[in-house]
This record gives sequence, C-alpha cells and structure tokens, in this order.
Amino acid sequence: MKNIKAPVAETFCSIQGEGLYCGQRQVFLRFAGCNLACGYCDEPAALDASAAAPMTCAEAARAVLKLARAKKAENVSLTGGEPLLYWRFIKSLAPALKKAGLTLHLETNGVLHKELSKIAGLVDVIAMDIKLPSSTGQKARWAEHKKFLSSAPEKTFIKAVITSKTKITELKKAVDLAASVSPGIPFFIQPATARKAGGKPPSAKFVEEAGCYAASRLSRVKVLPQQHPLWGIK
Ligand code: SF4
Repeated sequence: MKNIKAPVAETFCSIQGEGLYCGQRQVFLRFAGCNLACGYCDEPAALDASAAAPMTCAEAARAVLKLARAKKAENVSLTGGEPLLYWRFIKSLAPALKKAGLTLHLETNGVLHKELSKIAGLVDVIAMDIKLPSSTGQKARWAEHKKFLSSAPEKTFIKAVITSKTKITELKKAVDLAASVSPGIPFFIQPATARKAGGKPPSAKFVEEAGCYAASRLSRVKVLPQQHPLWGIK
C-alpha cells in the first residue's frame, strides 16, 4: 500500500439512505473537497478540503476495517465531496478493503470519467449522480455524464436530484441519456430534502410527471427521497 494521503472528513458506520442499497449497513469514508458546488449540497464540510486532516491509506484502511468489524458491516461507501478527486488514494486503498471481504461502493457526482477509468475495475458498485443544471445552479455536464456512464454501466445506478427549480426538460434529458446507454439501468429520481438553506422539494405534480416520463423510457425507475433524515441518522 503506497503512503498516499487524502483529506478525509470522517469515517463512520450508518445505514445507507439513498438509492439501490437504501437500508444497507455501510461504513462511510467521506473525502473532503469537491469539483462542483451544487445549490442543494447537504455536505458543506465536505466542500472544504483544507478543513479535513490528511489521512494515509494505511490509516484509512485501519479505521474502515475497525468500524466494519465492530458494526458487522460488509460494505464500505467511498463518498464525499467527490471521492474521484483522490483516485490514486482509492487505487492504493481498495485492495486491502477487498481482501478483508468488503464490497466497495463509490458515490460520485458522475463527472470525472477519466479518473473513474483508473479505478472502475476495483469498485463493485457505482452510485452516479446526473446533475441537472436547474437543480444544482451549475453548468450542464451532459457530455461528461455520458462518458462516465459508458465506463461501467453494469456496475452503475443513477440518482437525479429534483428540486422546486428543476426543469422537466432537463429531467427528460437525463432519462434519455441513461436510456441511450442502458435502458435497464436502475434510475432513482430523488426529490430534494427540505432544508433551511439550499434546495426545496419539487411539487407532487412535478414528481408524478418526472416518474411517468422516466418509466416510459427505462425499466427500473423509482422515486426515492433521502431516507436518513427521516430516520434521524447521519
Ligand atoms: S457533487 Fe455532491 S458533494 Fe459536490 S457539491 Fe454537489 S452535492 Fe455537494
């Protein structure tokens, strides 16, 4: 294992609250720092890489394995921030986690496709966002998302966060993009969680329209808001 360091905001064990593995016990390794700045971001601490202590791969492996043993977790989620900013770190860390029998999930904003290509073979599950500009307040990333999704669609599921500001044309574009690569890919429409700052949830009418269109193009569509705030856990 190489002595590479990365800013790690926190390691903890909890229950996955989003997407295909919602409800599964996982150890989370949260990297600090992100290449985007979504308006609804619920991890502001993860956006400031300088506020997190650098951790070596060996330290991270020890922390994750200790939590996994203590809490009986068989899955680890590499999350952020944007974990692919630290792909070299992940490349060095992953073999030790796999050797211990852990399944590796990568939670990513789905933009850094070149970085993904370096480690796609090492992770088991890729939880990829498609970022809708009207939801995030950021510029469009359609071309990057398409290349990203095409890298390892068999391991990937998609989440698209929708807010009160989301345009239906953009949600449809995300669905069409997913359908053009893999019509059977799991696609989660995630209405934003209501917060004091950041995104507001969309209307019920909008959620219905979005779900109906997605189901017309894709075979595995679900509407699923974040569950962990409802459960009162991290
Ligand atoms: S990609 Fe994720 S961590 Fe980065 S700003 Fe957007 S929501 Fe926050």
